[in-house]
Amino acid sequence: MLVENLNNINQKIQLACQKAQRSVDDVTMIAVTKSVESGTAKELAELGIENMAENRVDKLLEKKMALKNFSSIKWHLIGNLQRRKVKLVINEIDYFHALDSLKLAEEIQKRAEKEISCFIEVNITGEETKHGFKPEEVIEFIHELAPLDKIKIVGLMTMAPFDASEHDLHEVFSKLKKLQLAINDLNLLHAPCTELSMGMSNDFPIAIEEGATFVRIGTAIFRGA
Ligand SMILES: *Cc1c(COP(=O)(O)O)cnc(C)c1O
Repeated sequence: MLVENLNNINQKIQLACQKAQRSVDDVTMIAVTKSVESGTAKELAELGIENMAENRVDKLLEKKMALKNFSSIKWHLIGNLQRRKVKLVINEIDYFHALDSLKLAEEIQKRAEKEISCFIEVNITGEETKHGFKPEEVIEFIHELAPLDKIKIVGLMTMAPFDASEHDLHEVFSKLKKLQLAINDLNLLHAPCTELSMGMSNDFPIAIEEGATFVRIGTAIFRGA
């Protein structure tokens, strides 16, 4: 079941890459394990999955502990992070995908023992329920981060509206890509901004067509695409 689902996803990634004339090597699939137990995450690790994500701090720490023998796994925290939890998790992860305020960045700066690769979360459509900066706020925020030497902005992250049409999904993802390129063009040492974390089970092929370099996939792995 897992193998079949993973093969399916890989095929879709390949197709989307072909369509967009991109190399599959430029797209990393992150397995989002929030809906399964550690045992299932372990099965994924045994199948060679090397990027794992959780959206909650306690669950990430639990899975990381259970999978401690798989030392090559990269750990991604993809959900909103409360400031009081930063110290518990920030030195346990390889990527943080949901940087959404200066106060949070300052707490990370205070607690991090190494440089942390962060994505800035961007709320492209302005939905009230979503975290993240408005697109027009992002560049100013990046300039504010310059003194914080523990924070490296590797890219931008977004979540598309759940019920968006294909047309609207293309638009959301291409807007994030444009913003990423604009930041990349600034040539800032602390914000190379080469990556795009976008695309989930129901929209990852479109995200890849629009330039995603990390897709975050849960449901499609465990329940099929
Ligand atoms: C749960 C989650 C995903 C994965 O969603 P699926 O639809 O299950 O693939 C991706 N990103 C974030 C931030 C999530 O919370």
